[in-house]
Amino acid sequence: MVAPLKVGLAGLGTVGSSVLQLIAQQQLAARCGRSVEVVAVCARDRNRDRGVDLSGMHWFDDPVKLASDSGIDVFVELMGGEGDPAKAAVEAALAAGKSVVTANKALLARHGVALAKLAETNKVALNFEAAVAGGIPIIKALREGFAGNSFARIYGILNGTCNYILTRMEQEKLSFAECLKDAQRLGYAEADPTFDVEGYDTAQKLAILASIAFGTKVDADAIYVEGISSIAPADLIAADELGYRIKLLGVAVKTDTGIEQRVHPTMVPKSSAIAQVMGVTNAVTIDADGIDPITLVGPGAGGLATASSVVADIGDIARGARIAPFGRAVDSLSVAGKAPMQMHEGGYYIRLLAVDKPGTAATIATRLAEQDISLESIVQRHLVTPGAAPQGGTDARTASGPVPVILITYATTEDAVRRAIAAVKADQVISGEPQLIRIEKNR
Ligand code: NAP
Repeated sequence: MVAPLKVGLAGLGTVGSSVLQLIAQQQLAARCGRSVEVVAVCARDRNRDRGVDLSGMHWFDDPVKLASDSGIDVFVELMGGEGDPAKAAVEAALAAGKSVVTANKALLARHGVALAKLAETNKVALNFEAAVAGGIPIIKALREGFAGNSFARIYGILNGTCNYILTRMEQEKLSFAECLKDAQRLGYAEADPTFDVEGYDTAQKLAILASIAFGTKVDADAIYVEGISSIAPADLIAADELGYRIKLLGVAVKTDTGIEQRVHPTMVPKSSAIAQVMGVTNAVTIDADGIDPITLVGPGAGGLATASSVVADIGDIARGARIAPFGRAVDSLSVAGKAPMQMHEGGYYIRLLAVDKPGTAATIATRLAEQDISLESIVQRHLVTPGAAPQGGTDARTASGPVPVILITYATTEDAVRRAIAAVKADQVISGEPQLIRIEKNR
Protein backbone atom coordinates (compact mmCIF):
# COMPACT_ATOMS: atom_id res chain seq x y z
CA MET A 1 0.00 0.00 0.00
CA VAL A 2 1.24 3.50 -0.85
CA ALA A 3 1.99 5.68 2.17
CA PRO A 4 -0.30 8.71 2.60
CA LEU A 5 0.85 11.97 1.02
CA LYS A 6 1.85 14.13 3.98
CA VAL A 7 0.82 17.78 3.68
CA GLY A 8 2.06 20.81 5.61
CA LEU A 9 -0.36 23.74 5.35
CA ALA A 10 0.61 27.36 6.07
CA GLY A 11 -2.35 29.73 6.34
CA LEU A 12 -5.59 28.81 8.08
CA GLY A 13 -7.77 31.70 6.94
CA THR A 14 -10.68 31.71 4.49
CA VAL A 15 -9.05 29.29 2.05
CA GLY A 16 -6.80 27.29 4.40
CA SER A 17 -9.59 26.28 6.79
CA SER A 18 -11.79 25.27 3.82
CA VAL A 19 -8.95 23.13 2.46
CA LEU A 20 -8.79 21.24 5.76
CA GLN A 21 -12.55 20.77 5.62
CA LEU A 22 -12.50 19.44 2.03
CA ILE A 23 -9.60 17.06 2.60
CA ALA A 24 -11.44 15.61 5.60
CA GLN A 25 -14.65 15.15 3.55
CA GLN A 26 -13.34 13.85 0.24
CA GLN A 27 -12.26 10.31 -0.55
CA LEU A 28 -9.00 11.36 -2.19
CA ALA A 29 -7.47 7.89 -1.80
CA ALA A 30 -10.14 6.43 -4.07
CA ARG A 31 -9.90 9.22 -6.61
CA CYS A 32 -6.14 9.83 -6.66
CA GLY A 33 -4.77 6.42 -5.72
CA ARG A 34 -3.17 7.71 -2.55
CA SER A 35 -4.61 9.11 0.66
CA VAL A 36 -3.80 12.66 1.72
CA GLU A 37 -3.09 13.57 5.32
CA VAL A 38 -2.49 17.06 6.70
CA VAL A 39 0.18 16.45 9.32
CA ALA A 40 1.29 20.01 10.15
CA VAL A 41 -0.17 23.50 10.04
CA CYS A 42 0.96 27.07 10.59
CA ALA A 43 -0.72 30.44 11.14
CA ARG A 44 -0.01 33.52 13.22
CA ASP A 45 -2.47 33.01 16.06
CA ARG A 46 -2.40 29.56 17.63
CA ASN A 47 -5.39 30.24 19.86
CA ARG A 48 -7.87 31.33 17.22
CA ASP A 49 -10.84 28.99 16.73
CA ARG A 50 -10.93 28.23 12.99
CA GLY A 51 -13.96 25.95 13.06
CA VAL A 52 -11.86 22.97 11.98
CA ASP A 53 -10.29 20.15 13.95
CA LEU A 54 -6.52 20.61 14.24
CA SER A 55 -5.94 17.79 16.67
CA GLY A 56 -3.17 15.42 15.63
CA MET A 57 -1.50 18.09 13.47
CA HIS A 58 1.85 19.61 14.45
CA TRP A 59 1.73 23.36 14.95
CA PHE A 60 4.49 25.53 13.49
CA ASP A 61 4.87 29.22 14.29
CA ASP A 62 7.32 29.66 11.41
CA PRO A 63 6.06 28.81 7.89
CA VAL A 64 9.62 28.56 6.53
CA LYS A 65 10.47 25.87 9.09
CA LEU A 66 7.28 24.00 8.20
CA ALA A 67 8.09 24.25 4.49
CA SER A 68 11.36 22.33 4.81
CA ASP A 69 10.31 19.96 7.60
CA SER A 70 11.26 16.35 6.90
CA GLY A 71 7.81 15.14 8.02
CA ILE A 72 5.98 16.59 4.99
CA ASP A 73 5.90 15.69 1.28
CA VAL A 74 3.94 18.71 0.06
CA PHE A 75 3.86 22.30 1.25
CA VAL A 76 0.60 24.23 0.76
CA GLU A 77 1.02 28.01 0.96
CA LEU A 78 -2.21 29.88 1.75
CA MET A 79 -0.89 32.95 3.55
CA GLY A 80 -0.79 35.35 0.60
CA GLY A 81 1.48 38.27 -0.29
CA GLU A 82 4.24 38.53 -2.88
CA GLY A 83 7.05 38.74 -0.30
CA ASP A 84 8.08 36.85 2.78
CA PRO A 85 7.14 34.69 4.53
CA ALA A 86 5.20 33.24 1.55
CA LYS A 87 8.14 33.62 -0.87
CA ALA A 88 10.77 32.34 1.57
CA ALA A 89 8.59 29.39 2.56
CA VAL A 90 7.81 28.35 -1.04
CA GLU A 91 11.51 28.64 -1.94
CA ALA A 92 12.49 26.58 1.10
CA ALA A 93 10.00 23.84 0.23
CA LEU A 94 11.06 23.62 -3.43
CA ALA A 95 14.75 23.66 -2.49
CA ALA A 96 14.08 20.81 -0.03
CA GLY A 97 12.54 18.76 -2.86
CA LYS A 98 8.92 19.17 -1.77
CA SER A 99 6.11 19.90 -4.18
CA VAL A 100 4.21 23.11 -3.53
CA VAL A 101 0.59 24.14 -3.95
CA THR A 102 -0.29 27.82 -3.64
CA ALA A 103 -3.24 30.13 -4.36
CA ASN A 104 -0.98 33.17 -4.29
CA LYS A 105 -1.34 35.15 -7.55
CA ALA A 106 0.77 38.03 -6.22
CA LEU A 107 3.71 35.73 -5.51
CA LEU A 108 3.44 34.05 -8.93
CA ALA A 109 2.99 37.28 -10.87
CA ARG A 110 6.16 38.68 -9.29
CA HIS A 111 8.38 35.61 -8.83
CA GLY A 112 6.67 32.92 -10.94
CA VAL A 113 9.57 32.40 -13.34
CA ALA A 114 12.21 31.99 -10.62
CA LEU A 115 9.95 29.69 -8.59
CA ALA A 116 9.11 27.58 -11.65
CA LYS A 117 12.85 27.26 -12.35
CA LEU A 118 13.46 26.13 -8.77
CA ALA A 119 10.67 23.55 -9.09
CA GLU A 120 12.10 22.35 -12.40
CA THR A 121 15.63 22.03 -10.99
CA ASN A 122 14.40 20.05 -8.00
CA LYS A 123 11.99 17.96 -10.11
CA VAL A 124 8.97 18.80 -8.01
CA ALA A 125 5.53 20.23 -8.79
CA LEU A 126 4.48 23.85 -8.35
CA ASN A 127 0.69 23.94 -8.72
CA PHE A 128 -1.40 27.10 -8.52
CA GLU A 129 -4.87 26.44 -9.95
CA ALA A 130 -6.53 28.61 -7.28
CA ALA A 131 -4.39 31.66 -8.07
CA VAL A 132 -6.54 32.67 -11.06
CA ALA A 133 -10.35 32.71 -11.05
CA GLY A 134 -10.55 30.78 -7.73
CA GLY A 135 -12.86 27.85 -8.37
CA ILE A 136 -12.63 27.75 -12.20
CA PRO A 137 -10.08 25.15 -13.36
CA ILE A 138 -8.67 27.52 -15.96
CA ILE A 139 -4.96 26.73 -15.44
CA LYS A 140 -5.57 23.05 -16.05
CA ALA A 141 -7.76 23.84 -19.06
CA LEU A 142 -5.13 26.02 -20.74
CA ARG A 143 -2.09 23.98 -19.78
CA GLU A 144 -3.40 20.46 -20.17
CA GLY A 145 -6.85 20.51 -21.77
CA PHE A 146 -5.66 22.63 -24.72
CA ALA A 147 -2.10 21.35 -24.98
CA GLY A 148 -2.84 20.51 -28.61
CA ASN A 149 -4.16 23.95 -29.61
CA SER A 150 -2.65 27.35 -30.42
CA PHE A 151 -4.30 30.29 -28.73
CA ALA A 152 -5.38 33.41 -30.58
CA ARG A 153 -6.86 35.27 -27.62
CA ILE A 154 -7.68 34.70 -23.95
CA TYR A 155 -9.88 37.18 -22.15
CA GLY A 156 -11.76 37.17 -18.93
CA ILE A 157 -13.52 38.73 -16.00
CA LEU A 158 -10.93 37.98 -13.34
CA ASN A 159 -11.99 40.31 -10.54
CA GLY A 160 -15.34 39.73 -8.84
CA THR A 161 -15.32 43.11 -7.09
CA CYS A 162 -15.21 45.02 -10.38
CA ASN A 163 -17.86 42.85 -12.00
CA TYR A 164 -20.11 43.30 -8.97
CA ILE A 165 -19.71 47.09 -9.17
CA LEU A 166 -20.33 47.26 -12.93
CA THR A 167 -23.35 44.94 -12.66
CA ARG A 168 -24.95 47.09 -9.94
CA MET A 169 -24.17 50.29 -11.86
CA GLU A 170 -25.81 48.87 -14.98
CA GLN A 171 -28.84 47.27 -13.39
CA GLU A 172 -29.64 49.98 -10.83
CA LYS A 173 -28.23 53.06 -12.60
CA LEU A 174 -26.05 53.82 -9.59
CA SER A 175 -22.73 55.67 -9.48
CA PHE A 176 -19.36 53.95 -9.14
CA ALA A 177 -18.93 55.44 -5.64
CA GLU A 178 -22.30 54.13 -4.40
CA CYS A 179 -21.62 50.60 -5.68
CA LEU A 180 -18.10 50.58 -4.28
CA LYS A 181 -19.45 51.50 -0.85
CA ASP A 182 -21.90 48.57 -1.02
CA ALA A 183 -19.15 46.22 -2.17
CA GLN A 184 -17.10 47.26 0.86
CA ARG A 185 -20.07 46.79 3.19
CA LEU A 186 -20.66 43.28 1.81
CA GLY A 187 -16.99 42.33 2.12
CA TYR A 188 -16.41 42.14 -1.66
CA ALA A 189 -14.02 45.09 -1.65
CA GLU A 190 -11.13 46.03 0.63
CA ALA A 191 -11.07 49.23 2.69
CA ASP A 192 -8.46 50.41 0.15
CA PRO A 193 -10.01 49.17 -3.11
CA THR A 194 -7.29 50.54 -5.43
CA PHE A 195 -5.71 47.18 -6.18
CA ASP A 196 -9.02 45.74 -7.37
CA VAL A 197 -10.78 48.69 -9.01
CA GLU A 198 -7.73 50.07 -10.79
CA GLY A 199 -7.14 46.72 -12.49
CA TYR A 200 -3.90 45.54 -10.83
CA ASP A 201 -5.44 42.36 -9.41
CA THR A 202 -6.75 41.46 -12.87
CA ALA A 203 -3.30 42.19 -14.35
CA GLN A 204 -1.57 39.76 -11.98
CA LYS A 205 -3.99 37.00 -12.98
CA LEU A 206 -3.80 37.83 -16.68
CA ALA A 207 0.01 37.64 -16.53
CA ILE A 208 -0.27 34.06 -15.29
CA LEU A 209 -2.83 33.04 -17.93
CA ALA A 210 -0.88 34.72 -20.75
CA SER A 211 2.29 32.93 -19.71
CA ILE A 212 0.62 29.54 -19.96
CA ALA A 213 -1.28 30.30 -23.16
CA PHE A 214 1.49 32.06 -25.09
CA GLY A 215 4.68 30.71 -23.54
CA THR A 216 5.81 34.08 -22.15
CA LYS A 217 7.66 34.74 -18.91
CA VAL A 218 5.01 35.82 -16.41
CA ASP A 219 5.37 39.59 -15.99
CA ALA A 220 2.52 41.72 -14.65
CA ASP A 221 4.55 44.89 -15.40
CA ALA A 222 4.29 44.13 -19.13
CA ILE A 223 0.53 44.69 -19.02
CA TYR A 224 -1.27 47.90 -19.95
CA VAL A 225 -3.68 48.61 -17.05
CA GLU A 226 -6.73 50.86 -16.72
CA GLY A 227 -9.37 50.48 -13.99
CA ILE A 228 -13.10 51.12 -13.76
CA SER A 229 -13.24 54.20 -11.53
CA SER A 230 -13.85 56.54 -14.49
CA ILE A 231 -16.93 54.63 -15.69
CA ALA A 232 -20.13 56.64 -15.29
CA PRO A 233 -23.75 55.46 -15.32
CA ALA A 234 -24.09 57.30 -18.65
CA ASP A 235 -21.57 54.90 -20.20
CA LEU A 236 -23.50 51.84 -19.04
CA ILE A 237 -26.79 53.32 -20.27
CA ALA A 238 -25.29 54.14 -23.67
CA ALA A 239 -23.65 50.71 -23.90
CA ASP A 240 -26.98 49.08 -23.18
CA GLU A 241 -28.75 51.10 -25.87
CA LEU A 242 -26.04 50.26 -28.41
CA GLY A 243 -26.14 46.51 -27.69
CA TYR A 244 -23.13 46.23 -25.39
CA ARG A 245 -22.22 45.69 -21.74
CA ILE A 246 -19.15 47.08 -20.00
CA LYS A 247 -16.85 44.62 -18.23
CA LEU A 248 -13.36 44.95 -16.78
CA LEU A 249 -11.50 42.46 -18.95
CA GLY A 250 -8.00 41.10 -18.88
CA VAL A 251 -7.14 40.39 -22.53
CA ALA A 252 -4.10 38.64 -24.01
CA VAL A 253 -3.99 38.53 -27.81
CA LYS A 254 -1.51 37.20 -30.30
CA THR A 255 -0.73 39.99 -32.79
CA ASP A 256 1.77 40.34 -35.63
CA THR A 257 4.05 42.29 -33.29
CA GLY A 258 3.85 39.96 -30.28
CA ILE A 259 1.51 39.27 -27.38
CA GLU A 260 -0.65 42.24 -26.47
CA GLN A 261 -1.66 42.09 -22.80
CA ARG A 262 -4.10 44.65 -21.46
CA VAL A 263 -6.60 45.27 -18.68
CA HIS A 264 -9.28 47.92 -19.15
CA PRO A 265 -13.02 48.51 -19.10
CA THR A 266 -14.29 46.91 -22.28
CA MET A 267 -17.53 47.02 -24.24
CA VAL A 268 -18.57 43.49 -25.16
CA PRO A 269 -21.56 42.59 -27.38
CA LYS A 270 -24.58 41.61 -25.29
CA SER A 271 -24.75 38.40 -27.33
CA SER A 272 -21.32 37.24 -26.09
CA ALA A 273 -21.01 34.64 -23.35
CA ILE A 274 -18.86 36.96 -21.25
CA ALA A 275 -21.55 39.66 -21.30
CA GLN A 276 -23.92 37.30 -19.44
CA VAL A 277 -21.58 37.06 -16.44
CA MET A 278 -22.98 39.14 -13.61
CA GLY A 279 -22.10 39.97 -10.01
CA VAL A 280 -18.97 38.58 -8.38
CA THR A 281 -18.77 35.66 -10.83
CA ASN A 282 -15.61 35.22 -12.94
CA ALA A 283 -15.29 33.94 -16.52
CA VAL A 284 -12.58 33.27 -19.07
CA THR A 285 -13.09 32.92 -22.83
CA ILE A 286 -10.57 30.89 -24.78
CA ASP A 287 -10.14 31.51 -28.51
CA ALA A 288 -8.01 28.70 -29.86
CA ASP A 289 -7.57 27.15 -33.27
CA GLY A 290 -9.75 24.22 -34.17
CA ILE A 291 -12.53 25.02 -31.69
CA ASP A 292 -15.26 27.60 -31.32
CA PRO A 293 -14.61 29.97 -28.40
CA ILE A 294 -15.13 28.32 -25.03
CA THR A 295 -16.13 30.28 -21.94
CA LEU A 296 -15.62 28.89 -18.46
CA VAL A 297 -17.78 30.61 -15.84
CA GLY A 298 -17.70 30.21 -12.07
CA PRO A 299 -16.79 31.53 -8.64
CA GLY A 300 -13.59 33.55 -8.53
CA ALA A 301 -13.33 33.55 -4.76
CA GLY A 302 -14.78 32.13 -1.56
CA GLY A 303 -13.34 29.58 0.84
CA LEU A 304 -14.78 26.34 -0.50
CA ALA A 305 -14.68 27.33 -4.18
CA THR A 306 -11.00 28.25 -3.94
CA ALA A 307 -10.24 25.23 -1.76
CA SER A 308 -11.66 22.96 -4.48
CA SER A 309 -8.85 24.10 -6.79
CA VAL A 310 -6.22 23.75 -4.05
CA VAL A 311 -7.36 20.22 -3.21
CA ALA A 312 -7.40 19.25 -6.91
CA ASP A 313 -3.77 20.43 -7.11
CA ILE A 314 -2.88 18.31 -4.07
CA GLY A 315 -4.72 15.39 -5.69
CA ASP A 316 -2.53 15.72 -8.81
CA ILE A 317 0.57 15.44 -6.64
CA ALA A 318 -0.91 12.38 -4.92
CA ARG A 319 -1.36 10.84 -8.41
CA GLY A 320 2.29 11.52 -9.16
CA ALA A 321 1.60 14.12 -11.85
CA ARG A 322 4.29 16.77 -12.34
CA ILE A 323 3.64 19.24 -15.12
CA ALA A 324 5.83 22.25 -15.95
CA PRO A 325 4.23 25.10 -13.94
CA PHE A 326 3.74 27.35 -16.99
CA GLY A 327 3.24 24.47 -19.40
CA ARG A 328 6.76 24.32 -20.82
CA ALA A 329 10.39 24.39 -19.70
CA VAL A 330 11.26 27.71 -18.07
CA ASP A 331 14.20 28.38 -20.43
CA SER A 332 11.87 28.14 -23.43
CA LEU A 333 9.53 30.89 -22.14
CA SER A 334 9.93 34.13 -24.10
CA VAL A 335 10.11 37.64 -22.64
CA ALA A 336 6.71 39.35 -22.55
CA GLY A 337 7.24 42.85 -23.96
CA LYS A 338 5.03 45.70 -22.84
CA ALA A 339 2.02 46.02 -25.13
CA PRO A 340 2.39 49.06 -27.41
CA MET A 341 -1.13 50.33 -26.79
CA GLN A 342 -0.87 53.00 -29.47
CA MET A 343 -0.82 50.12 -31.95
CA HIS A 344 -3.91 48.44 -30.48
CA GLU A 345 -6.53 47.89 -33.14
CA GLY A 346 -10.25 47.68 -32.49
CA GLY A 347 -13.49 49.59 -32.24
CA TYR A 348 -13.91 52.46 -29.78
CA TYR A 349 -16.71 54.03 -27.82
CA ILE A 350 -16.10 57.75 -27.43
CA ARG A 351 -18.34 59.90 -25.22
CA LEU A 352 -17.68 63.61 -25.42
CA LEU A 353 -19.39 66.88 -24.64
CA ALA A 354 -19.70 68.89 -27.85
CA VAL A 355 -19.95 72.65 -27.37
CA ASP A 356 -23.17 74.09 -28.69
CA LYS A 357 -21.94 76.31 -31.55
CA PRO A 358 -22.20 76.21 -35.35
CA GLY A 359 -19.66 73.96 -37.08
CA THR A 360 -18.93 71.71 -34.09
CA ALA A 361 -20.27 68.52 -35.71
CA ALA A 362 -18.41 69.22 -38.96
CA THR A 363 -15.14 69.86 -37.10
CA ILE A 364 -15.41 66.60 -35.16
CA ALA A 365 -16.25 64.68 -38.36
CA THR A 366 -13.26 66.23 -40.16
CA ARG A 367 -10.82 65.38 -37.37
CA LEU A 368 -11.99 61.76 -37.31
CA ALA A 369 -11.81 61.51 -41.12
CA GLU A 370 -8.24 62.88 -41.07
CA GLN A 371 -7.29 59.83 -39.02
CA ASP A 372 -9.25 57.46 -41.30
CA ILE A 373 -11.72 56.72 -38.50
CA SER A 374 -15.13 55.56 -39.73
CA LEU A 375 -18.16 55.67 -37.52
CA GLU A 376 -20.48 52.74 -36.95
CA SER A 377 -22.94 54.93 -35.06
CA ILE A 378 -23.33 58.37 -33.61
CA VAL A 379 -25.83 59.33 -30.93
CA GLN A 380 -26.48 62.86 -29.77
CA ARG A 381 -28.19 63.36 -26.45
CA HIS A 382 -30.11 66.38 -25.28
CA LEU A 383 -30.32 65.61 -21.61
CA VAL A 384 -27.57 64.31 -19.42
CA THR A 385 -28.38 61.83 -16.71
CA PRO A 386 -26.64 62.28 -13.34
CA GLY A 387 -22.95 61.44 -13.53
CA ALA A 388 -22.90 61.70 -17.32
CA ALA A 389 -20.35 64.49 -17.57
CA PRO A 390 -16.95 63.14 -18.61
CA GLN A 391 -14.18 63.78 -16.11
CA GLY A 392 -13.67 67.49 -15.77
CA GLY A 393 -16.68 68.16 -17.99
CA THR A 394 -19.63 70.30 -17.13
CA ASP A 395 -23.19 69.21 -16.70
CA ALA A 396 -25.09 69.61 -19.94
CA ARG A 397 -28.58 70.15 -18.68
CA THR A 398 -28.67 73.83 -19.51
CA ALA A 399 -30.28 74.53 -22.88
CA SER A 400 -27.22 76.26 -24.35
CA GLY A 401 -24.58 74.03 -22.68
CA PRO A 402 -22.47 71.34 -24.30
CA VAL A 403 -24.28 68.36 -25.79
CA PRO A 404 -23.27 64.78 -25.00
CA VAL A 405 -22.33 62.88 -28.15
CA ILE A 406 -21.56 59.18 -28.30
CA LEU A 407 -19.51 57.80 -31.17
CA ILE A 408 -18.88 54.14 -31.96
CA THR A 409 -16.02 53.65 -34.39
CA TYR A 410 -15.23 50.79 -36.72
CA ALA A 411 -11.87 49.13 -36.16
CA THR A 412 -9.11 51.71 -35.96
CA THR A 413 -5.95 52.20 -33.92
CA GLU A 414 -5.50 53.67 -30.46
CA ASP A 415 -3.03 56.10 -31.96
CA ALA A 416 -5.58 57.38 -34.50
CA VAL A 417 -8.24 57.84 -31.82
CA ARG A 418 -5.86 59.70 -29.50
CA ARG A 419 -4.74 61.99 -32.34
CA ALA A 420 -8.32 62.76 -33.37
CA ILE A 421 -9.29 63.55 -29.77
CA ALA A 422 -6.25 65.80 -29.32
CA ALA A 423 -7.16 67.70 -32.51
CA VAL A 424 -10.78 68.12 -31.46
CA LYS A 425 -9.66 69.41 -28.08
CA ALA A 426 -7.30 71.88 -29.71
CA ASP A 427 -10.21 73.08 -31.88
CA GLN A 428 -12.09 73.85 -28.62
CA VAL A 429 -15.27 72.16 -29.83
CA ILE A 430 -15.54 69.83 -26.86
CA SER A 431 -15.67 70.41 -23.15
CA GLY A 432 -13.76 68.32 -20.57
CA GLU A 433 -12.00 64.98 -21.10
CA PRO A 434 -13.73 62.53 -23.44
CA GLN A 435 -14.44 59.02 -22.23
CA LEU A 436 -12.84 56.25 -24.31
CA ILE A 437 -13.80 52.59 -23.96
CA ARG A 438 -12.33 49.88 -26.17
CA ILE A 439 -14.69 47.38 -27.82
CA GLU A 440 -13.88 43.65 -27.86
CA LYS A 441 -15.81 41.80 -30.54
CA ASN A 442 -16.73 38.12 -30.71
CA ARG A 443 -14.45 36.11 -32.93
P1 NAP B 1 -6.72 35.02 4.93
O1 NAP B 1 -8.11 34.64 5.25
O2 NAP B 1 -6.26 36.39 5.24
O3 NAP B 1 -5.75 33.98 5.66
C1 NAP B 1 -4.37 34.12 5.68
C2 NAP B 1 -3.80 33.09 6.64
O4 NAP B 1 -2.38 33.19 6.62
C3 NAP B 1 -4.24 33.30 8.10
O5 NAP B 1 -4.55 32.08 8.69
C4 NAP B 1 -3.00 33.92 8.74
O6 NAP B 1 -2.84 33.57 10.12
C5 NAP B 1 -1.89 33.27 7.94
N1 NAP B 1 -0.69 34.09 7.94
C6 NAP B 1 -0.53 35.35 7.46
N2 NAP B 1 0.72 35.78 7.68
C7 NAP B 1 1.36 34.77 8.31
C8 NAP B 1 2.67 34.62 8.83
N3 NAP B 1 3.57 35.62 8.73
N4 NAP B 1 2.99 33.47 9.42
C9 NAP B 1 2.09 32.46 9.53
N5 NAP B 1 0.83 32.54 9.07
C10 NAP B 1 0.46 33.69 8.46
O7 NAP B 1 -6.39 34.78 3.39
P2 NAP B 1 -7.21 33.91 2.35
O8 NAP B 1 -8.36 34.70 1.84
O9 NAP B 1 -7.45 32.56 2.92
O10 NAP B 1 -6.17 33.86 1.12
C11 NAP B 1 -5.06 32.97 1.14
C12 NAP B 1 -4.45 32.96 -0.27
O11 NAP B 1 -5.41 32.51 -1.20
C13 NAP B 1 -3.98 34.32 -0.78
O12 NAP B 1 -2.82 34.17 -1.57
C14 NAP B 1 -5.13 34.77 -1.67
O13 NAP B 1 -4.74 35.68 -2.68
C15 NAP B 1 -5.55 33.46 -2.26
N6 NAP B 1 -6.92 33.42 -2.73
C16 NAP B 1 -7.93 33.71 -1.89
C17 NAP B 1 -9.24 33.64 -2.35
C18 NAP B 1 -10.40 33.93 -1.43
O14 NAP B 1 -11.55 33.80 -1.87
N7 NAP B 1 -10.17 34.30 -0.18
C19 NAP B 1 -9.49 33.33 -3.70
C20 NAP B 1 -8.43 33.01 -4.54
C21 NAP B 1 -7.14 33.06 -4.05
P3 NAP B 1 -3.91 34.05 11.26
O15 NAP B 1 -5.20 33.41 10.89
O16 NAP B 1 -3.36 33.52 12.51
O17 NAP B 1 -3.94 35.54 11.17
